[in-house]
Amino acid sequence: MRFLLQFHNVLIYVLLGAAVVTAFLGHAVDTLVIVGVVVINALIGFIQEGKAESALDAIRNLLSLHAVVLRDGHRQEIGAEDLVPGDVVFLQSGDKVPADLRLIEVRTLKVDESMLTGESESVEKSLEPAAPDTSLGDRLCMAHSGTLVTYGQGLGLVVSTGAQTEIGRISRLLAEVEEITTPLLRKMAHFARWLTVLILVFSAITFAVGFWVWEQSGGEVFMAAVGLAVAAIPEGLPAIMTITLAIGVQRMARRKTIIRRLPAVETLGSVTVICSDKTGTLTRNEMTVQRVVTADQVFHVDGTGYAPRGGFTIGGKEALASSYPELADIGRAALLCNDAIVRESGGHWIVEGDPTEGALVTLAMKAGLDPVYENEAQPRRDVIPFESEHRFMATLHHDHAGHGFIFLKGAPERVMEMCAFERSGGEDRTMRKAYWHDRMEETARLGQRLLAVACRPVAGGTGELRFGDMEDGFTLLALFGIMDPPRDEAVEAIRLCHRAGIDVKMITGDHAATAQAIGGQLGIDASQVLTGSDIEKLDASALRKAVREADIFARANPEHKLRLVEAMQSNGDICAMTGDGVNDSPALKRADVGVSMGIKGTEAAKDASEMVLVDDNFASIVSAVEEGRTVYENIRKAIVYILAVSGGQAGMVMAATLTGHVLPITPVQILWVNMVTAVTLSLALAFEHLEPGIMERPPRDPGEALITPFLVARIIVVATLLIAGSYGLFLWYETQGLSLEQSRAIAVNTLVMGEVFFLFSSRYLRASALSIEGLFGNVYVMLSIAAIIVIQALFTYAPPMHLLFGVAAFPPHIWLWMLAFGIFLFFSVELEKAVIRRLGARIRT
Ligand code: ADP
Ligand code: MG
Repeated sequence: MRFLLQFHNVLIYVLLGAAVVTAFLGHAVDTLVIVGVVVINALIGFIQEGKAESALDAIRNLLSLHAVVLRDGHRQEIGAEDLVPGDVVFLQSGDKVPADLRLIEVRTLKVDESMLTGESESVEKSLEPAAPDTSLGDRLCMAHSGTLVTYGQGLGLVVSTGAQTEIGRISRLLAEVEEITTPLLRKMAHFARWLTVLILVFSAITFAVGFWVWEQSGGEVFMAAVGLAVAAIPEGLPAIMTITLAIGVQRMARRKTIIRRLPAVETLGSVTVICSDKTGTLTRNEMTVQRVVTADQVFHVDGTGYAPRGGFTIGGKEALASSYPELADIGRAALLCNDAIVRESGGHWIVEGDPTEGALVTLAMKAGLDPVYENEAQPRRDVIPFESEHRFMATLHHDHAGHGFIFLKGAPERVMEMCAFERSGGEDRTMRKAYWHDRMEETARLGQRLLAVACRPVAGGTGELRFGDMEDGFTLLALFGIMDPPRDEAVEAIRLCHRAGIDVKMITGDHAATAQAIGGQLGIDASQVLTGSDIEKLDASALRKAVREADIFARANPEHKLRLVEAMQSNGDICAMTGDGVNDSPALKRADVGVSMGIKGTEAAKDASEMVLVDDNFASIVSAVEEGRTVYENIRKAIVYILAVSGGQAGMVMAATLTGHVLPITPVQILWVNMVTAVTLSLALAFEHLEPGIMERPPRDPGEALITPFLVARIIVVATLLIAGSYGLFLWYETQGLSLEQSRAIAVNTLVMGEVFFLFSSRYLRASALSIEGLFGNVYVMLSIAAIIVIQALFTYAPPMHLLFGVAAFPPHIWLWMLAFGIFLFFSVELEKAVIRRLGARIRT
């Protein structure tokens, strides 16, 4: 089908018509050449399109789904495609259900089944069996493949996988076909169609003028009209654009960003502000507790990373953990209210789970506790998991003597709301708010994240933990200062953004002073910090003003993110926004480019996003912006190139017909040139790398015309030069007594020479191509030029070609004139670029 579709194209229809007419007129050679070209063209289009598509398929496959299962008695992560019926699968909020599951355990599990049932409200699941004829939306004891867990946790037994699942059945019916297209490509395809109509009208006029005004023979003017159509219709354009896009997406994948929705490639190029999470994206997410503040003193903790090596000091003096029994209590709370595992692997200490929690495990080990022993001595009965909304986590435990405890950890402001007491010297006394607030400020100003731990005894038989249990009566044990150093590459990437006119805003759940300190280290303007509660107090218009000024947003939750995006967009900004949790989905969807995290992101966030960061790294977003700008520029380069070249050829045919002169190049020769140019030469531009200076310019206004007035001027200038050079040499040598075949060979070769030199110039729209890099920097350009030298030599000197194309060899010294013309064309364009550069950045190319 894809091969046949290659023939569904106005130009091909014109060509096939021409083949029929030439056959009737008895020009068998012309017919042969035209049919040959049509078939080769279709083949090349077919192969290229296939390549572009398989490149994109390969990228989509990178985003395969994972499942956490219980196998061999261990919790482990496997690829969803390896699931089999009978597997026990863990679900938690943000996951995409990897197979059809019969639920066997639920904790306020809510699932968004809209992709299956169309119902946008999440459904709360339960365990009661459903009657056999229950409709899909009412099977509460089932979790279906492809649906999203929006809340809570659950455990399910796999009952069917792959095509046997409910979604599998549906997608077999739909067999999704996704086209490789974007708004820009659609616009261009539309433009190309109009251009084609226009050209056909011109061809008709040419025919009329030749036939009635100059009274040429019907066959001759018909061929002129066909020649004009062949020369001017930019048939290679849509294919080149698709390929450029596919290459861009592939390059982005190599630079650690996976594009999920193609239009994002274009949008990326015009992004004016990037809103990024702090933890893990701008920072390394390698957490180490460096400070433990108790009611009585401040401990400093030695050591880096997750290795449980290093001790405690107070004011620079060694403090043995054994002499401070409170450290054991603190460590125990930190260890039990925790889901992370820290272990040694190949000489390195690594975390499985949340790095913040990993840091606490390491701290507890430094205080001399054994995680396995503690968890066995005080088993967990229930948990309220951490969510960015409530910013705390709590667990319920009991020891073997029957006592019950709740351990609580979270953002200190939240934890202190629930605390009445503080622990000092093993006793509980009334909490001194002012003392803790001072310590918090002090710690946060060092750039450390804050986390507090507290505990409360409960009746021994308590088996369940409710939000109601969390209101008060807790004893504050300690405040932790956790260091998470900025990523070095983020500092560099932020500098790059600022130079490229892109604002970087940091949005974090952390304390304002922590955010400010880290923001400062990263090179973000830290003079103003807006907190989540500030955002809540502002109305829409005040928020619009505030987001223009502040670059750091602290103690913000996903709802605030959504409001921030909306405010920025109504300021006219094009906004990229990162996110990882289920609740980030609305903000990701709303943002112009939603960016989700490949490592720590949930499936829900990935589903809502346009782009996935493979390495969770801020710098990768900036690389993607760079590639986005490059793709856009490359598409424009190809357009300018193709339009200028087809304009030149069409101009020659028109000039000849309108003046009643013999054609300087025949339709089959034009076909030849087009095969060479459109396919070989302009394709090289799709591989072009970043143009120098492209990241020093402000983002492109999305409303801006694709082809600016300056580029229109360039197209006209180059087309005119091509006409003048090629037609000029043709006329000159024809009057010098060379045969028509020789003169046409000269015209064709001059045209190709001009194209080759214009290709060098076209590598950069604005920057000078006059440098080693500018001339020789793109291997594809070099290769295609080498190919063309061979092809043109054959065309000029091989006898069969003479027969097919009606050309003949000419005196060799004429090559020098052609070369001179090529160089002249090159310098003319370079001169024009130099003038534009002189005029400054205001002039957009
Ligand atoms: P961010 O990802 O922007 O750093 P988070 O929403 O993850 O922000 O964290 C906000 C605050 O919540 C942190 O400053 C910390 O005090 C607290 N916190 C973070 N992780 C946990 C956790 N696993 N358990 C309890 N509290 C946490
Ligand atoms: Mg976090």
